[in-house]
Amino acid sequence: MLLTTIGFFALTGVFIWWHLRGSAPAGTAPPRAPEASRPCARCGASVAFSATYCPGCGIAQQIFEIVGAPTSAPGAAAPGAAPPRALVRADMCVGCGTCVAACPEVGAIVMRGKLAVVDDALCKGHGDCVSACPVSAIAVTTGAAINRIAVPMIDGNFQSNVPGIYIVGELGGRGLIKNAINEGKMAIEHVVAQLPPCEARNDGDPEAFDVCIVGSGPAGLSAGLEALRAGLRYVILEQGSVSDTVRKYPRKKLLLAEPVSIPLYGDLWIADASKETLLEVWGTIIANTGLQVRTGVKVDRVVRDGRFFDVVAEGAHYRARRVVLAMGRRGTPRRLGVPGEETDKVFFDIVEMEAFAGQKVLVVGGGDSAVESALGLANQPNTEVRLSYRGESFARVKARNQDKLNQAIASGLVIPMLRSEVREIRSDVVVMDVEGETMILPNDTVIVRIGGEAPSAFLEKLGVRIVEKDVPMPREVAKVG
Ligand SMILES: Cc1cc2nc3c(=O)[nH]c(=O)nc-3n(C[C@H](O)[C@H](O)[C@H](O)COP(=O)(O)OP(=O)(O)OC[C@H]3O[C@@H](n4cnc5c(N)ncnc54)[C@H](O)[C@@H]3O)c2cc1C
Ligand code: SF4
Repeated sequence: MLLTTIGFFALTGVFIWWHLRGSAPAGTAPPRAPEASRPCARCGASVAFSATYCPGCGIAQQIFEIVGAPTSAPGAAAPGAAPPRALVRADMCVGCGTCVAACPEVGAIVMRGKLAVVDDALCKGHGDCVSACPVSAIAVTTGAAINRIAVPMIDGNFQSNVPGIYIVGELGGRGLIKNAINEGKMAIEHVVAQLPPCEARNDGDPEAFDVCIVGSGPAGLSAGLEALRAGLRYVILEQGSVSDTVRKYPRKKLLLAEPVSIPLYGDLWIADASKETLLEVWGTIIANTGLQVRTGVKVDRVVRDGRFFDVVAEGAHYRARRVVLAMGRRGTPRRLGVPGEETDKVFFDIVEMEAFAGQKVLVVGGGDSAVESALGLANQPNTEVRLSYRGESFARVKARNQDKLNQAIASGLVIPMLRSEVREIRSDVVVMDVEGETMILPNDTVIVRIGGEAPSAFLEKLGVRIVEKDVPMPREVAKVG
C-alpha cells in the first residue's frame, strides 16, 4: 500500500514536471514587449518612459518636461474637448493660497492643507489663478491634462536657439527653487564642457569673461557657484539685491520639500523654513566661497559681437564668451523713483493677498494690474485699501475690472485717490501730493503696479524664439475637484 502511494505521487510529480517543461521550455517564455523609451534630452541615452532618472547622466527626467514636450503649431486649438477648467499640479503647488484670492468664483479653488484643489463644478476657467500662481503650478485645460505654455526655445542643456545663450530657472518656464538650482548648475556644466580652458586664453581677448550670469536668484547663484568651482572667469550681474525675488516674498514661510545639491556647499533641505533662513544660507555660502555678485546692475541688452557677447548694463559693457540668463519671469518693474522705495514695505508684484490682511495698504497705478491688486486686497478682512493714480480716471482698465472697482468704491472697500502722486515712503506713513496738496497717510505697505519690462521682450530682442509647448500634466500629479 505504502509503495503504491509513493509510486502514485512520484508518477504525478514526474507528469507535472514533464507538463510544465513541455508547456514552457527554458528560453522560450513569451517575449515581453520592449518598454517604450525616449532619448535623454541632455545626454541622448535611451530612457524608459517609466524611468525617473536617466541611466546615462543620472539626471531626473522631470527637469526636461518642458524641453521634451511637443511644440504646438501657432494658432492650433488647445487639445481636449471639455470646457476649460483649472488644473493644479500637486507636485509643484507650494500651498501659498494666492490662487484662492485671485479667483473671481468663490469656492472654485480651496486649500486642503498645503494643496490647492479645484472644484470642477464651480470653476469657469477664467485663468486668473494661472497668472497669479508664483510657481506655475496651475494650468487651464480642456480635459486633456495638457498645459499649453509659451516658453523660450531651449535644449536639454538649457542652451537657447542662440548658441552660447543659456536660459535657466523660472525664465525657462519652470517654477520652484529646486529646479532653478539644478538648472543653473547644469547649464554651467555644459559651458565647461563646451569651453575648454585654452579657448578662454587664446581667442583674442584674455580680459573677457568666460560666462556672464544675469540674475542672482537661486538659478543665478547656483550657476555662479558652479562657475567658481570650475575655475571659470565669471561675472554675476543683479539689478536688485542678492536673490531679490525671494527677498520680496510677502510671507515668511517657504517650502523646499526635498534636498537639492548646491555647488561648493552640498545638500540644502529646508522644509517649511522662513525666507530669512534661505537668505541667510545664501549669505553664508557667498561669504564662505567668496562668490562675487555685482548688485544694483540692471542688464539692458545682450548683443553678439563676433565670438563674444556684449552684455550692456547701466552703460557698462561686459564681454563674455557665454551668457546664462537667470532673470526669473518677473521682469524689471517700473519704479516711482521716490525716497523709501527700496524698503521692505514696498512690493512691485503681489501674490498672497492674505499676507496683507488687516493692514493699511496703498496701491499705486491706474492700469489693470493695479486695480486687480486693489480688488484682491479689498477682499481681505479689516484691510484699508487706497488706490492712487495720477490720472483723471481709471478709464483704461478692462470693463470687467471697471465694474468691480466701481462696486468696491461704492461699498467703501477701495478708497480711490485720483490726481495723486507718492512723494516719499516712510516706515509708518506715505507722503502724498493730492491735487497739489501735501497729505501724510498712515501706511503699512505700498504696492507699486505701474508696469515694467517683461523678460519675453528682452529675449525676443536677443533672437531667442518663444514657442508654445503642450506639456502633459500626468493625472497622478494633478488634482481636479
Ligand atoms: C510669493 C512667492 C512664493 C514662492 N514660494 C515658493 C516656495 O515655497 N518654494 C519654491 O520652491 N518656490 C517658491 N516660489 C518660486 C521661486 O521663488 C522661484 O521659482 C525661484 O525664485 C526662481 O528662481 P530664478 O533664479 O529662476 O529667478 P528669481 O528668483 O526670480 O531671480 C531672478 C533674479 O534676476 C534678477 N534680474 C531680473 N532681470 C534682471 C536684469 N535685467 N538685470 C539684472 N538682474 C535681473 C532679479 O532681480 C532676481 O534677483 C515662490 C515665488 C513667489 C513669488
Ligand atoms: S497659487 Fe500656485 S502654489 Fe499657490 S496654492 Fe495656488 S496652485 Fe499652489
